[in-house]
Amino acid sequence: MTLSFQKKLIKKATKWLTAVATLATAQIVAELLVKAIMVAVQGGHLSYLRYRNEYLKRLSAEYDITFENLEKVAAKIEDECVPWVKAARMRPLIVKLGGSVITDKRGRFSVKLSSLRRLARELKAADGPLVVVHGGGSYGHPIASKFEIARGFKNEEQLMGFSLTHRAMEELNTHVIEALQRAGLPAIAIQPSACSVVSDGRIVRMELAPLHKFLELGIVPVTYGDVVPDLSRGMSILSGDQLVVYLARELGASRVILGADVDGVFTADPKLRSREKLIRVITPSSWRDVVKSIGVASGPDVTGGMAKKVEELLILAESGIEAEIVNAAKADTLKRAILGERGLGTKIMAG
Ligand code: ADP
Repeated sequence: MTLSFQKKLIKKATKWLTAVATLATAQIVAELLVKAIMVAVQGGHLSYLRYRNEYLKRLSAEYDITFENLEKVAAKIEDECVPWVKAARMRPLIVKLGGSVITDKRGRFSVKLSSLRRLARELKAADGPLVVVHGGGSYGHPIASKFEIARGFKNEEQLMGFSLTHRAMEELNTHVIEALQRAGLPAIAIQPSACSVVSDGRIVRMELAPLHKFLELGIVPVTYGDVVPDLSRGMSILSGDQLVVYLARELGASRVILGADVDGVFTADPKLRSREKLIRVITPSSWRDVVKSIGVASGPDVTGGMAKKVEELLILAESGIEAEIVNAAKADTLKRAILGERGLGTKIMAG
């Protein structure tokens, strides 16, 4: 980014800002804005949208210009910049295909190919940037649980268990990628164990620059629950649900949709007890009452089941991104949710 380009931008931004501020203020704010955007661009700032909005809020308070007005000017500046900034402004939709929908959890290495292919066609309904995350189902969970990977590194045998679990997940991922390609979506696998820094089971950071680039190009990144090296435990499992939440926050997702094999969150596991009630909305305060009755998933799920899932999504809701758990086993439900319909399952929101 050349200095003369910056100067030109500052001049333009000053002009745009004089409509909403005095000339002296407009000049100062224009300079600050342009410089902040340049720094973010040159540094490949990974949480660009969050960084930018926090900065705009600070400027808005300091110079008494409304956030909306500043936002409009920032968007104009960004439009003049490199495509990377435009990509960073895109808010992707994040869809998770639950392990229980794409595999038969009672079997071993048992993919539900026809469901997977139908879901891939439904995903085609997304008309903007899309990130797909999938669970492990009957691929990842049984081996990970046999070798107790979730407990951390305890013995040498786990090394082969780690390797085998990853390979199983790669096999399932290949099915997902193939289904998406058949549906006409240019999908690419993102291997979490190769780009995530995890400590005590939680993501510390992930290398997201390639992912930004994929989204900018219109390629669909597909990631999945995986075994990962863990800085404090040696090894752990990074669940698809945790990935969804992390990516949603870092990429500033427009919305998160989780496709499960049940209609949403019930007062207790609907597969174990009939006549349970579907909970339409969960907020951080309502969760405290609900959590006591919520069960864990049926089958050997090493990532904590439904309660864990909701807890991850509540963290997201608190940062302003809504999520909904819908029944992706029912034809067209995922598609309707992708097209913007709300209230098809359980909404998780800030309240
Ligand atoms: P996935 O692998 O699809 O991401 P999980 O298997 O982790 O999802 O969780 C979904 C499963 O959780 C459902 O199939 C259901 O049997 C089970 N479950 C346990 N408790 C509940 C509950 N209160 N409401 C809905 N589902 C529940």
